[in-house]
Amino acid sequence: MKKVLASIILILFVTVVSAQKTYILCGKLIDTESGKIEKKKTILVEGNKIVKIFNGYIQPKDRTSKVINLKDKVVMPGLIDMHVHFEMETSPARYIERFTENDADKAYNSVNYANVTLKAGFTTVRDLGGSGVNVSLRNAINAGKIVGPRIFTSEKSLATTGGHADPTNGMSKKLMGNPGPKEGVVNSVEDAKKAVRQRYKNGADMIKITATGGVLSVAKSGQNPQFTLEEIKAICDTAKDYGMHVAAHAHGDEGMRRAILGGVKTIEHGTLMSLETMKLMIKHDAYLVPTITAGKEVSEKARIKGYYPAIIVPKALNIGPKIQGTFGKAYRNGVGIAFGTDAGVFTHGKNGKEFGYMVEAGMPAMKTIQSATITNAKILKMETEIGQIKKGFFADIIAVNDDPTKDIKTMENVVFVMKEGKIYKK
Ligand SMILES: [Zn+2]
Repeated sequence: MKKVLASIILILFVTVVSAQKTYILCGKLIDTESGKIEKKKTILVEGNKIVKIFNGYIQPKDRTSKVINLKDKVVMPGLIDMHVHFEMETSPARYIERFTENDADKAYNSVNYANVTLKAGFTTVRDLGGSGVNVSLRNAINAGKIVGPRIFTSEKSLATTGGHADPTNGMSKKLMGNPGPKEGVVNSVEDAKKAVRQRYKNGADMIKITATGGVLSVAKSGQNPQFTLEEIKAICDTAKDYGMHVAAHAHGDEGMRRAILGGVKTIEHGTLMSLETMKLMIKHDAYLVPTITAGKEVSEKARIKGYYPAIIVPKALNIGPKIQGTFGKAYRNGVGIAFGTDAGVFTHGKNGKEFGYMVEAGMPAMKTIQSATITNAKILKMETEIGQIKKGFFADIIAVNDDPTKDIKTMENVVFVMKEGKIYKK
């Protein structure tokens, strides 16, 4: 009797302690490191990690292990989008919402945006600017309370007075007030340091600055430089002290030149980048985050009467369509490319469209996938944990129907999503 009891206890103990084993049978598997597509592999997932990759199809001998049959699919690591905004989504009402929405409204919406993004195959994102709801969203996802990608957030973007991310742009003078470093508005080197430290205190993982004017802010210029070199240097140096990297929104050339010299890691959009600035990016090991989809969608929406305030329309029509051409030129000249879309400026979950636009501009399909996996993992200092299907890495695994090197549109239809060993789409 005692023996039986002991063995029951032992079985219970083993079942509780040993993590669920899942065998994923992959018809094709993309090795993002070599850029090769391998055939007939089995990935063994235990808990939240990949523990082994076998040649051929392996069937488990025990009864408790799960088997997932992806023999007719193309499997790859979870994708990483370096530029999303989970606190908003494009709508003609967006400019009114600044006055009517509460943080709770943003939070409820963001739950849905995070969910559709994960189901589109993006298991990690950078959220580049919001009000701070994005920090709570990240925490809720990490705690397993809601479903979404792993988030690296900048919390509130930093701007100068009247700059692209000044929160009271376009308001009546009565409402404008005088936002300072606490709200992310910077007008000196001292302010710059304060604003970075405030973001750290508020829970940011990294810093975003608006180095030039932008398309969707209620202001005239979409490209003027908006920080001094000294301010950007102070931001980057302070961020470095706190273990954070800096992303710079930039359309105009002078603003991005200062941003790169100041020490930012990524240039977002890069619309009017000159050849000299491309060379500077290579020299300083900075990456371009293309956001072609946003550029295209913004110029399309600008043709719908009343969709945007009048001051935005000429900027959207002028800047939006230029992004893809500049991206192609930057790629051909050897600039490092970090996949990113600016989702939120267009409908969340459509992030996969960017792959097609990148290929259209001349980047080979496999390179676009490497950009969305190993390159982005490296920028996030997660290169030993995400971006590859490899032993010891997080089990962030997705699948598509077709070979993306033959049909890149397949990236718009991700059919299987696993994040940290948990299946979210099958
Ligand atoms: Zn953006």
